[in-house]
This record gives sequence, structure tokens and C-alpha cells, in this order.
Amino acid sequence: MSDLVKKNPIIIDGKQTSANIRNWIYIEIEKLKKNYNFIPGLAVVLIGEDHASTIYVRNKGKQSKEAGMNSWKYNLPSDIPEKDIIAQINKLNNDDRVDGILVQLPLPNSNSSSERSIIEAIDPEKDVDGLHIINSGKLVTGEEGLFPATPSGCMHLIKDNFPNISGKKALVIGRSNLVGKPISSMLLKENCTVTVAHSKTKNLIDECKQADILIAAIGIPNFIKGDWVKKGSIIIDVGINRIEDKKNNKNIIVGDVDYNNAINYCSAITPVPGGVGPMTIACLLMNTLRASCLRRNLSPPIYNT
Ligand code: NAP
Repeated sequence: MSDLVKKNPIIIDGKQTSANIRNWIYIEIEKLKKNYNFIPGLAVVLIGEDHASTIYVRNKGKQSKEAGMNSWKYNLPSDIPEKDIIAQINKLNNDDRVDGILVQLPLPNSNSSSERSIIEAIDPEKDVDGLHIINSGKLVTGEEGLFPATPSGCMHLIKDNFPNISGKKALVIGRSNLVGKPISSMLLKENCTVTVAHSKTKNLIDECKQADILIAAIGIPNFIKGDWVKKGSIIIDVGINRIEDKKNNKNIIVGDVDYNNAINYCSAITPVPGGVGPMTIACLLMNTLRASCLRRNLSPPIYNT
């Protein structure tokens, strides 16, 4: 891995990269308006009043408008029956102004089969969260489709700094449908040798010590210790964990990696906050732009860093 070792580690700036992507989207939308007379549109369905979900949905609406998109929000009551949610999704499926549909997860009071039925009700061509089984299948089989935003954001951050990761050993810790599984497929597509770890993995420390690229998507604050990290590795920390900072008597957000120690070993790392987090909405908007073109048989614009 000598080609990855850097004297001073790169602090991968997701805030700047996401701003660059959103500016690019704005320019591409201006071109679509001028040349084809349409504006891509994103509809977000929020069920219930969960505080964190409400903030995420508000940010999605704000950033889609700033990027020049149409944006709609549907706030449904938390006790709404599944069939009524699906009826709302069907309306959006049939609304030609809507290019992307996102149902904010997790759903209140929902079991996983209900969540699945709701996701499967979304037209796969408008599934900008990339969670429909058709899009998951396309990702695994290496076909073009709409893929989850957070893993796509991670891949942008890696490839902006390390364009060729072919042959590298990648360890993905976490196997959720939202992050761990899709990013494993994306790394495989880049010809990495991928290991997926989870709560039943034995000898996780040994796995970490061998990883040229380590993706942490666990949800446990500062779980990956600095001295687990291979020298010269790339660390992508997806975790968003709220903890109490007792010294300063306030709540702070930290990742799954012990950043202050890991920074002494790696060649590049994403901070939390300011790393992967801001990339999620940018990649969601990129998916909406892409979906809007594909639905109209236009070649979607490609973002080059
Ligand atoms: P999740 O569905 O809860 O999955 C967590 C994964 O971590 C599971 O696969 C679990 O293994 C694994 N895990 C738990 N304890 C472990 C241990 N001791 N050793 C190894 N693996 C362990 O979470 P998620 O939705 O993927 O999210 C992961 C983190 O990313 C969370 O902090 C979340 O807030 C954050 N996140 C951030 C963004 C963003 O925009 N930046 C987006 C999504 C998620 P099992 O499968 O065996 O249970």
C-alpha cells in the first residue's frame, strides 16, 4: 500500500465536495430548462413527526430548491394505514412532474415487512433512494440504476482523492441495506477485494489491520480504535452518533472511528461531522437529476470532479 501512504493525512472534505456537486447540479438543471423545458422534481414523504426525520426532510427540501429543482413534501400522520401511504406513492408515481420519490426512513411504528411493501410501491424509475429491489438487483449485477445516496457519496469521496483503488483490500463494517451492502457492491465494481464485517464477525481487529480501505457503518461512537487501523489506509466514517461532551456540557456528533487516534495511522480520513454526512443529500439530488433524464430518454449528465 505504499502508493496510498501520505505524510500528512488527507482530511476528506465532504462539505466542499457536496457543495461542488450541488453547484454542478444547478448548472445542469439550467441547461435542461433551456434545452428541454423541464425542471427535475423531488417528492419527499414524511410519516409522523420524528424530530430528526423532520430536520432531514426540511434540509432535503431546502437543498433541492437551492439546486433549482421542484420540491414537494407530503407529511402524513403517524397512524396512517399502509394502504393509504401506498395510495399516496401511486399518485406520485403517476405524476409526470415528479422524477424522484423518497419516503423518509425509519417509519414510525413500522415493521420491516411494512417498510419493504412501501419501498416496493415506488416506481423503480423514481426510486432516488435506490432501495427498491429492482435497483438493489441492478447494483449487485453491475447494471445501471439508481443507487443509495450515502454509499454513492462515500465512493465520490474515495475516488476524488484516490482515482484508482483497483486491487485494494476493502473492509466494510456494517451490512445494512442502506449503507453496508450497497457500498460493498460499489467497491467490488471498482475491483477491490471486499470483506463485509458485522456484529458476529470474529477477530474484527485483525480484519481492520489488513484493510487498505475501511468503511465504518456501525452506529457505535468511536468504536474503531486508532491502533486497529492499517498504516496508510483510507478511512470512510459513515457513523453519526450523538454523545454527551461532559467537559463542555453539550451534545456533540462523533463517528464510528476514534478520529483523533486513527488520524495518526491513516493516509486519508473523513471527519464527522463534515465528511460523509453532507454527501447524502448531494447524491440524492444527483439521483433525481439522473432519474429526470432517464425517464425522458435523455443521457444523464456525468459529474466529473
Ligand atoms: P444499522 O442498520 O443499524 O447497521 C449497523 C451495522 O453495524 C449492522 O450490520 C451491525 O451488524 C453492525 N454492527 C453492530 N455492532 C457491531 C460490532 N460490534 N461489530 C461489527 N459490526 C457491528 O445502521 P446503518 O443504517 O447502516 O447506519 C450505520 C451508521 O451510519 C449509523 O451511525 C447511522 O446514523 C449512520 N448513517 C449515516 C448516514 C449519512 O448520511 N452520513 C446515512 C445512513 C446512516 P448486524 O447486521 O450483525 O446487526
